[in-house]
This record gives sequence, C-alpha cells and structure tokens, in this order.
Amino acid sequence: MIGVYVHIPFCKSRCRYCDFYSTTLLPRRKEYVEALLREIELRGVKNPDTIYLGGGTPSVLEAEDIERILEAIGTDKAEEVTIEMNPGDLVTVSGYRLAVSGRINRVSIGVQSFQDQLLRTIGRRHTAEEARHAIRALREAGIRNLSIDLMYGLPGQTMELWKADVEEAIRTGAEHISCYCLSYEEGTPMWQDLQAGRICETDEETENAMYDYLCEQLRAAGYEHYEVSNFAKPGYRALHNSRYWNDTPYIGLGAGAHSYDGQRRSWNPGDIERYIETFSGAKDIKMARDLYVEEEVLTDEQKRIERIMLGLRTCEGIEKGEGDPKNQQIFRGSPGERLKVKGERFVHDGLLREEGDRLIATQKGLHILNRIIEELI
Ligand code: SF4
Repeated sequence: MIGVYVHIPFCKSRCRYCDFYSTTLLPRRKEYVEALLREIELRGVKNPDTIYLGGGTPSVLEAEDIERILEAIGTDKAEEVTIEMNPGDLVTVSGYRLAVSGRINRVSIGVQSFQDQLLRTIGRRHTAEEARHAIRALREAGIRNLSIDLMYGLPGQTMELWKADVEEAIRTGAEHISCYCLSYEEGTPMWQDLQAGRICETDEETENAMYDYLCEQLRAAGYEHYEVSNFAKPGYRALHNSRYWNDTPYIGLGAGAHSYDGQRRSWNPGDIERYIETFSGAKDIKMARDLYVEEEVLTDEQKRIERIMLGLRTCEGIEKGEGDPKNQQIFRGSPGERLKVKGERFVHDGLLREEGDRLIATQKGLHILNRIIEELI
C-alpha cells in the first residue's frame, strides 16, 4: 500500500499569510512538468493506492498537464485521487475540464472564508461568489467527494462572521471540511502588519470559542471529528492525508516534497531551478539522488516522538504502551514512564481521556494540544 504526493509549487500570487514553498514563476510550469514526469519514471512510481496533487496551486497547471502526470503515475488502483484547487481558477475553466476527464475523484478547494472583506485581508485572489460558483461547477462536473478549507482567527473576523462561514460551509454539503487557525509566520506580509500594529491578533479565548463552535456545529451536522483540523462525513475521511497521521509510507514527487518508507525520510529541497535541472538531466535515480535528494534515518526515539505528536492529533489518540508489542518497545523505559505519569495527570485535569488502552485528547485538551505534546515527549 503506497500513497503518492505530487507538489505543484506555483501560485498566481502569494497569499499574505503564507510561508509554504511556492513561486509565482509561472513561465517555468512546462519545464517543471517535464522534470516531474522524469522523476516519476526514474523512481518507478506505478499505480499507487492514493494520489494527492497539492501545492502551491495545482490548478494553475493546464488540465492536459495534470492528465499527463496522472497518466504517468497510473490511476487504475487508486482509491482516492485528490487535487487542491483555487476557487478563482475554476471560474475560468469549467469544472477544471470536468475534473480532469474523470481521473480525479476528490477535490480540496481553498475557500478559506465566504466573506469578501476577510478574503481581501488575507490576500486571497478569489471572491466569495467565485468560491460558491466553483463548488457548483465541481458538483456539476461529477465530484462526489469535496473538501473545503476554512480559516479562523483572522483579523476583523467576528464571531458572527465566523458562524456565517461555518453555516455556509455545512450548507454546501461538502463531504469533508478542513479548518485552520491563522498563524503569523515570520516574514510574511501579515506578520509584518502585526509587528507594525496595523492589525491585531485574535485573542486565545476567541480562537478557542471559534474552534468549539466549529466542532459543535459540524458534529451536529453529521461530520466525524477525526483529526484536530479535519472533519468528514462517514466514509469520507481523507485516505491520503491519513497516511501522515498513521505512520504509513508515502512517496513525495516534485520540489519540496517529502517521502517516508517507514524508517527513512527523504526530501527534494524546495528549489525549482535545481529540481528542473537535476531531473531533466539525470540518467538514473542514483544520479538524481546524489545530486539533489536529502534523507535521514529515523531513530526509535524520533519515531516514538512522531507517534505521540501525530497520534494525539487524531480521534484514535495514542496507545499507553500496553497491548501492542510494537508499542511496548516504543514506549518502554523512562520516556514511557513520563508518558504514563504525565498522561495520568492530563486525564485527571480533563485534557486527555482514556479509552481502553488509549489516550485521546478531549475538546479542552485540543485547545492546548501542542503544550500537552511537548510535556509528553
Ligand atoms: S494559494 Fe496556497 S500555497 Fe499559494 S500562496 Fe496562497 S496559501 Fe500559499
């Protein structure tokens, strides 16, 4: 079982909060696609179980190029083929050429908000009406598995505006909703605005109230809260993204993409020029790896920490250490003792709950999940 992630690091413009690796150098798209096709060939990628085209903005590529990439990877066995799309791109290309000729069965659309003033504040290119239009176009194109991204904690976003966004997201009937709190990443235009006092950060109490409202409303509407930021109707959990949380192998293709084989993590550095140069000219995978790919072998201690960090984000939580022999090995010794003692304290304080031999974050615990994880590891 393997999943493939393809990174398309191009955006028509940069959003004001974003520090992801992406570029507005759109003229390089064609060469990038050729290098990607070469990487697919050299790495012998064929017919994975899940495919995720992310970015950046994959929908800035021509539908024909997306089709060539999917053709090269092979979609015959893929249970889930997801593409991230920008609502603005969909207005110009009807249903993104019918969701790339039927090869894509899941679309993740970066709505972020249904309020134009908030979209302008965070520097998104699309309008709320374009987002609504894109959702309709995708449904008409036959997409039955739609995911919507929302953001909260935005400057100027009142509780009333947030409620309106959550309610509209539910009304769209999206099968999946991902929701992130704005964070001010150093060096981004929004971070600069904050430093200069031009905008104010949302206080923690309001952020928590927004998050609680979201969780309550989505649960009431039939969504499962299966990961701290992700909600799905039954049967619609994101299969590909679940690999990251469940310690399952995946291959990352493209500049800035990471791969994981269960023990080793490798990554292509985020440098489009070098990526194009390396993969266009590489004779074999060894040559490309030597020139470009970086990797590290995870120690048992790193794996133990990752299992806690990722596991506590999910509704399955982590094992306390009893039961599974694999986990006994991972949690043994003093870190295991720390997990036991601190875990019990967090259970006592209502931040974690016990379910069989698992520890799972409570709603109260989700508010301060990073602090809990820091103490447990
Ligand atoms: S579209 Fe996505 S990747 Fe591109 S700048 Fe905006 S948030 Fe960042």
